[in-house]
Amino acid sequence: MATGHDHFDVIVVGGGVNGTGIAMDAAGRGLKVLLCEMNDLASATSSSSSKLIHGGLRYLEHYEFRLVREALSERESLLRNSPHIMWPMRFRLPHRPHLRPAWMIRTGLFLYDHLAKREILPGSRSIEFGAADPLKADITKGFEYSDGWVDDARLVVLTAKKAQQFGAQILTRTKCVKAEQGASEWKVTLRDMTNETEKTVSAKAIVNASGPWVSRLFGETLSMPAPKMIRMVKGSHIVVPRLNKDTEAYILQNEDERIVFVIPYEDEFSLVGTTDVDYEGDPRKAKISPEETDYLLDIVNAHFKRQLGPSDVVWSYSGVRPLMDDEQENAQKASRDYSFEVNSEKGKAPLISVFGGKITTYRKLAEAATDKLCQFFPEASGRWTKTATLPGGEFDNHESLEQKMRGDFPWLSERVLSRYVRTYGMTAYEFLKGCTSMEDLGVNYAGTLYEKEVEHLVKNEWAMTSEDILWRRTKQGLYATESDVEALDRYLMKTAAPETRATDLHHSA
Ligand SMILES: Cc1cc2nc3c(=O)[nH]c(=O)nc-3n(C[C@H](O)[C@H](O)[C@H](O)COP(=O)(O)OP(=O)(O)OC[C@H]3O[C@@H](n4cnc5c(N)ncnc54)[C@H](O)[C@@H]3O)c2cc1C
Repeated sequence: MATGHDHFDVIVVGGGVNGTGIAMDAAGRGLKVLLCEMNDLASATSSSSSKLIHGGLRYLEHYEFRLVREALSERESLLRNSPHIMWPMRFRLPHRPHLRPAWMIRTGLFLYDHLAKREILPGSRSIEFGAADPLKADITKGFEYSDGWVDDARLVVLTAKKAQQFGAQILTRTKCVKAEQGASEWKVTLRDMTNETEKTVSAKAIVNASGPWVSRLFGETLSMPAPKMIRMVKGSHIVVPRLNKDTEAYILQNEDERIVFVIPYEDEFSLVGTTDVDYEGDPRKAKISPEETDYLLDIVNAHFKRQLGPSDVVWSYSGVRPLMDDEQENAQKASRDYSFEVNSEKGKAPLISVFGGKITTYRKLAEAATDKLCQFFPEASGRWTKTATLPGGEFDNHESLEQKMRGDFPWLSERVLSRYVRTYGMTAYEFLKGCTSMEDLGVNYAGTLYEKEVEHLVKNEWAMTSEDILWRRTKQGLYATESDVEALDRYLMKTAAPETRATDLHHSA
């Protein structure tokens, strides 16, 4: 396979969940991989999801049985491999008989329980709501079922980390600006977005995993016509003060047949989403509209005793789904499945492009894409990711690790400890090494974010800006004031040195 500093077996364009998933799988099979991401890892769709590891109960209504079965069977593998950043979650579905009859929901839940093997997650059941529940008094009956929750942005970073452990070069803030297809290799120009310098490297194959940019990368960068277009559908979420004290999420049915989730979020908040709005323009500029905020608040107010207004929204975010364009009239009915396009005409270096996908199916998608890649690398080894633990995930469950850490770091505050467990798992031991008191964690920047953690993120997780740290590596931005952000910016300016730049390919993080 490839040797030399500037020649690779595979260049992956795009540092979202699909690009990092493919980089990790391919590097683990022995390929020499470079991944370039024009901004920060997970800075586009992969940090803007509803963060559910789910089969997608709703997709059954659209007969997407292949996707639902694959996603359902993936849930437990993912939950086992990354117990720090993912956990099981119960979902409560209030029953409103004029929207969907009980028999229909029961049938859907029966299928959901039985389409794939389940060992960790309990099955569904009917439930009754009472005065102690947060819902309005006229909602008395419902159902309960299981899915999982994931910190999507951290999933991407940890997948990139695992790829790096197998030798992959991960270049953030590096845009693929040109790629020329030759007979046996691609010549690829990478632009360092921090200083606008460029460098040319070569690779035997390219993977286009640029999500919402997948079709335009053909015209703008690869100089060839796109084999198909994607449909961009914006989805927005709002974060509001916690609506329910318990740990369950709610799945609310709306009059327009859409569903909206209310999910426990970062201790004190609830995450409410999502919307489905056809979108054109720059995916990075997607923003929630006042109509979307009202839409989400109206659904919450129709179900919960606690009534909310726009001033209760503490944060919001929007992302663009890169969906396969199956020409459905209605955006929410467009398929959430994925497909690949392989360009490998005789005498040309191959290109594999990813269309669509879900966070939940990213490992399967990456496995299938890497299988396709390996047709061009007969020396590569076989599938391996189904039982692969992501960095820091070498423990059983939150409770057991919390207990161990309480013993090992008795001085660590409960809030900090519990966040470290669900953000880093065992990796927290690396940056807590040598600390014996809260003072040893250094300056507090916001919420539970201390200097030690910031140092770790800059050194080991490609974090460069306060946004990377406050909104993707952690969600401590929820607690940060303007002056907190300025102080963090000042610290980063003083200390952060770009570790692996496009112009300096051999220095890996
Ligand atoms: C509102 C919403 C809710 C969702 N909820 C869920 C959910 O609950 N569960 C679930 O399983 N899925 C969910 N999804 C779907 C899931 O988030 C996406 O399918 C997934 O994140 C897509 O990942 P990706 O890697 O293909 O794209 P992205 O994450 O967008 O990554 C593509 C990357 O390519 C980079 N890039 C583009 N061009 C270049 C270039 N020229 N050079 C270098 N880099 C480049 C971009 O900067 C970007 O970071 C949701 C999506 C949305 C929008």
